[in-house]
Amino acid sequence: MNHFTSLFSPPNFEPSHLLKLLIHLHIIASGENGDYFFPCALQSYTKPLVPQTETNPLLIVWQDNDGINTLPVPQGMFPLVITHLLTHNKCPCKVDFPPLDPHQYYKYRDALSFWIFIKTKRYTLHIINHYSHIEVYFDESVQEAKVKCPYIRELVMKAVSDSAKAINLEQNHVAAFSCLNEKEKNCYCVIEEDHSINCTLCKKSADISGDSYWCWFDSMDCGTKIIASDSQYLQVLDICNL
Ligand SMILES: [Zn+2]
Ligand SMILES: [Zn+2]
Repeated sequence: MNHFTSLFSPPNFEPSHLLKLLIHLHIIASGENGDYFFPCALQSYTKPLVPQTETNPLLIVWQDNDGINTLPVPQGMFPLVITHLLTHNKCPCKVDFPPLDPHQYYKYRDALSFWIFIKTKRYTLHIINHYSHIEVYFDESVQEAKVKCPYIRELVMKAVSDSAKAINLEQNHVAAFSCLNEKEKNCYCVIEEDHSINCTLCKKSADISGDSYWCWFDSMDCGTKIIASDSQYLQVLDICNL
């Protein structure tokens, strides 16, 4: 901050005002000990090592308005999603960084690991920006994933929706799995609202089955509630099954 002293003219515009503005814009996130996190300042992730998890990753994919063509991850989306996730600390769940340990956790501009505390238990999540799409890994057993992943999916999708709103983008993102069809490397299995699958490229959509995929979705008897709040609306994430 000291480099910018000449920029400021206290008491009208002080460094703390700039920090407040950056936090408000979700460009940085404030930590607990008075420190700040600025995702764009991190090193980029050069050697994509795929996390080895029991469950399959959930993909977030962008489509054009017709829902036909796949688009790259919008510019600026990924760091916003990260800061939105970090500011989620409403009871009973809290999102934070794990300790620095490059053997276990990612901390790069385009790949980050999180610890997500739900009630008293802590879980590990990896989020990777592949630029064509975003991948979300839950690093736990399938059994544990079946209970927690529907909630975590909503949390991440809400961070994406809030980020899209923040930069005036249309809500053109969908949840998907990577296609099982080896020949169509660029195909995504888009998960529709009723949990049917539509491949973005394959003639016949892939058959996705098993808890390692469907752990991300629950059987839908316990939906989300929408309640009014000061900011347009607030989606209350359902936690009754956790
Ligand atoms: Zn929560
Ligand atoms: Zn496919």
